[in-house]
Formats: sequence, structure tokens, C-alpha cells
Amino acid sequence: MIVVMKEDATQSQIDAVADLLSSKGLGVHLSRGEEKTIIGIIGPRERMLEFPVESMEGVEKVVTVSKPFKLANRAFHPQDTLVQVGNHVVGGGECTLIAGPCSVESRDQIIEIAKFVKQVGGHMLRGGAFKPRSSPYSFQGLGETGLRYLAEAREQTGLPIVSEVMEIAQIPMFLEYVDVLQIGARNMQNFPLLKAVGKTNKPVLLKRGLSATIEEWLMSAEYILAEGNPNVILCERGIRTFETYTRNTLDLNAVPVVQHLSHLPIVVDPSHGVGNWRYVTAMARAGVAAGAHGVIVEIHPSPAEALSDGPQSLTLDRFAGMVAEVRRISQALHPAQEALYAGNA
Ligand code: PEP
Ligand code: MN
Repeated sequence: MIVVMKEDATQSQIDAVADLLSSKGLGVHLSRGEEKTIIGIIGPRERMLEFPVESMEGVEKVVTVSKPFKLANRAFHPQDTLVQVGNHVVGGGECTLIAGPCSVESRDQIIEIAKFVKQVGGHMLRGGAFKPRSSPYSFQGLGETGLRYLAEAREQTGLPIVSEVMEIAQIPMFLEYVDVLQIGARNMQNFPLLKAVGKTNKPVLLKRGLSATIEEWLMSAEYILAEGNPNVILCERGIRTFETYTRNTLDLNAVPVVQHLSHLPIVVDPSHGVGNWRYVTAMARAGVAAGAHGVIVEIHPSPAEALSDGPQSLTLDRFAGMVAEVRRISQALHPAQEALYAGNA
């Protein structure tokens, strides 16, 4: 349920509603917009209806939220959520560019890539250190050594680090080294892990599960938000369909649907979405044209030698080309915001 306060509601009227409901054991979340304040209430419906909130002073209306996701729901928080990562704001109008190898393979590899990402104006460096591989015989990642190399790459370039955390026990180690905790597609419904990252204050990049509906994905975001961490970035990375010429099907429908339903920022991952570097740039462009707040892509100086996901990795040159094309689309869509950052690349 949400309580929409009148435009001229006073602070004490807002407090009276919030205090009454929280004193009755209901969860109360305030969202102050430029004009109106919205009070989101979480709890059993019958309990909410026991109180005559609609007739309280300063209340414009009470609306029932039927969707199961509440904190992730745009009705609870009409303004877009902005997630600050280092100096960059995800969702703030400048297209977020995150790039790096699927896996960190060596110190030299990650530092060379980081410098290139920085040079072309990227905002964050990605790189897996603990890899969720389909086969136990495939390269599993460098583990903590990989995280250390990522942190070194950050020291040298200033780029914040995004890396996938696979289990709760790894969280303290990740908090030392990374700036954004990635939850991989395979862990999207690992509820204990979602709760645990929700207890931290690090931004979380929440990938969509391979066969998750948009509602299931938003419910996973809800788990993180409900623990008190508001910094969730959604990532559409392709879903399983009957098509076999691509690894997955990048569901671009999800971009406007999520933006309608939720205030959380959304980026697209065309690399896992298509699984073949030839199609990555086209789908990066399409994702940004659909309104995504950014793109995360896999890149490698020598994709044929990559230890994971080489076939979908762009070479550094091709990545530079992709950045230029994506920027042109973003500039066409958000000329004012992009102009602010024009000198940064
Ligand atoms: C990755 O980012 O390398 C990865 C494993 O992604 P996903 O969880 O989307 O498959
Ligand atoms: Mn990968």
C-alpha cells in the first residue's frame, strides 16, 4: 500500500502517518519527490486496512500496490534511483560503460585492459576472479589473486571494479577489493546470498537469471533492498529461448518494462546475451537505444586465447568502435546530460 501525501502536506502531518503505521509494526518507507511525499507501507493487507489513514490530515489518497515487489516498485519511489560508483552515477543520464575480460587471467592482462578501458572513457572495469563455469574442468578463475590484480588495476587507472561474488563466505574478501558486487545469473535466486549482499552498503549488479521472469528478477532485487541496501543495478544478460544461433536471447523488452515497473537503473550485457562477438556491438547499440542506462561488455586483447568466453569477447579495437557508436546513440537520446561529460573521454 502507498500513501500519497498532498503537495502542501506539512512535515508533522507526514510524521503522524509514518509514526502511526510504524507503531503498529508495519514497514514504512518514505520517498520525497520534488512535489509530493509518498509513504510506502509493507505488511499484511488486513493490518494496513485497520487504520483510517485515508482520513488523516495531509493525505491525498491511499493506493494498493498489488505487485509482490514493493521497495523495487516505482509506485513506492517514483524518481529514478541513482547509484553512485566512485565518481560515476549509474542512471544519471551519462551512459555507463563497464568493460573487461570475462576472467582475470594475469596481472599484465588485466592492467593492459584496464588502461584501455580508461583511455576510451569507460567508467568501470569488470573481471571475474571466481567463475561460475558450467563444467568443473573449465578454468575456475584466479580467486583472491584475481581480486588483488583487479585492485592493482584500479590503483593504476582509478576505475572502480565489478566482480562476481559466488557465495556468502566470500563477501568480506570482496568488500576489501571491489566496488560493485556482481550477482551472476546462476545465483539470481540464491536468496541467502541476496540477503547477505543486502546487508552490505556496496552497489550490487544483479544479473537476470537464465530463465527468470521479470517479476522473479525484481523479487530478487527486493530481497537486497529489504535488507537495507538501496544500491541495486539490474543487468539484462539474455534469457534461454529455443534459438540456437545465439547463446541466449538478449531480452530488450525488459528495458522499458523494468523502467515502467521499477525505479532501479538497468544496464544490458550484450556479450552473454548473444555469445558471439559479431553481434555484440549491434546489441549494445540496441540496448542503449531501448533506454538502458549503460552497457557491460567482455573484451580481450586476444580473444582466441581467452580462458573463458573468448568467442563473445570484443578485441580492444572493436571495443573502441563500440564505445563510439553507443555514445552517439546516447548523445542523441540525452543531449544535455551527455554534453556535461563530453570532455571526460
Ligand atoms: C560473467 O559476467 O562473466 C557471467 C558469468 O555472467 P552471467 O552470470 O550473466 O552468466
Ligand atoms: Mn563471461
